[in-house]
Amino acid sequence: MTVRTGRHFLQIPGPTNVPDRVLRAMAAPTLDHRGPEFAELTRRVLDGLKPVFDTTSPVVVYPSSGTGAWEAALVNTLSPGDRVLCFETGHFASLWRDMAETLGLDVEFVPGDWRHGASPEAAADLLTADIAHRFKAVCVVHNETSTGVTSRVPEIRAALDAAGHPALLLVDTVSSLASIEYHHEAWGVDVTVTGSQKGLMLPPGLGFNAVSPKAIEASRTARLPKAYWDWAPILDANAAGFFPYTPATNLLYGLEEALRMLAEEGLAQVWARHDRHAAATRAAVRGWGLEVLCADDREHSGSLTAVLLPDGQDADAVRKIVLERFDMSLGTGLGRLSGKVFRIGHLGHFNDLTLAGTLAGVQMGLELAGIPVGPDGLAAALDHLRTA
Ligand SMILES: *Cc1c(COP(=O)(O)O)cnc(C)c1O
Repeated sequence: MTVRTGRHFLQIPGPTNVPDRVLRAMAAPTLDHRGPEFAELTRRVLDGLKPVFDTTSPVVVYPSSGTGAWEAALVNTLSPGDRVLCFETGHFASLWRDMAETLGLDVEFVPGDWRHGASPEAAADLLTADIAHRFKAVCVVHNETSTGVTSRVPEIRAALDAAGHPALLLVDTVSSLASIEYHHEAWGVDVTVTGSQKGLMLPPGLGFNAVSPKAIEASRTARLPKAYWDWAPILDANAAGFFPYTPATNLLYGLEEALRMLAEEGLAQVWARHDRHAAATRAAVRGWGLEVLCADDREHSGSLTAVLLPDGQDADAVRKIVLERFDMSLGTGLGRLSGKVFRIGHLGHFNDLTLAGTLAGVQMGLELAGIPVGPDGLAAALDHLRTA
């Protein structure tokens, strides 16, 4: 039996560390989801979510993972055979593409090298050339969790506007909402998809769609089969404070507490905190003489950093040592990045000393794995934290 002392460091980019305040809120007795007390909770939570997405339109909450919220975004807005424009930013963008194809959509997948975000230039070319407006939706993963690259959503929006193109804009913010600056309404996004277990600091189990009036309009004529995911009955029931099925009541208690914590800190400060920790992490990676996977300085992720190891080195061996010796979980390389990178999650419930501990564990793990690294990574990160 392994004896553990102190806290496990859960430094994967989701699920993230759940604050004690949130865990305690969820420990309340489960209540009648058709009673008056629940209706009040629903209203507080649905209102409290809007500023986090930065929207005045409704947010639909599902008892699902983020993948369910992906499906909900597609089936509510599109019809069989509709053309959609997607970008190969990494593993998650590829999974969303696969889902769109499984659902019977006709996907144009702009190829990518998994080190850059969605290309606004490619979007502009394809949308401008699409005079017949055959594209019905553009799908972008805001923060590609497999690579640590953040796409420039406002530039994709600008490409749609410059082309005068009416396609809907669907954005996955599963690992960016409440971590990286995001504005559903000001950026002209039609459906924002997210999940509970990353920036929102909750356990897995809730999926979200923030929807624009244009998306709701589209849902009235969209013909992909939908039943459980159908926004209409949920929005109807929500108006009275209820759901058309049994909601994840205790997760909603936790959500209320998490929203309170985000409001106390202020979203602008939440974003700045993530950016600062990401910059300190990159300073450490440079100090080790290793490479950050993200290849464009405009696109570094605030929520995680993917670290590329030299050819011939096994990133999973480093992760194994770090877990066994220091009780810390780091993110594995996904898809074609398997074994080549490890990912450091620095999002959610996190502060300077959790980052310092995380990077100390990574540095020792690299050394123990026999990876030739410079000795100054951790010191460079601490320097950044002390001065920036
Ligand atoms: C985690 C994640 C998902 C998938 O969410 P699940 O909750 O695992 O279904 C989708 N997209 C991105 C960008 C993610 O980080």
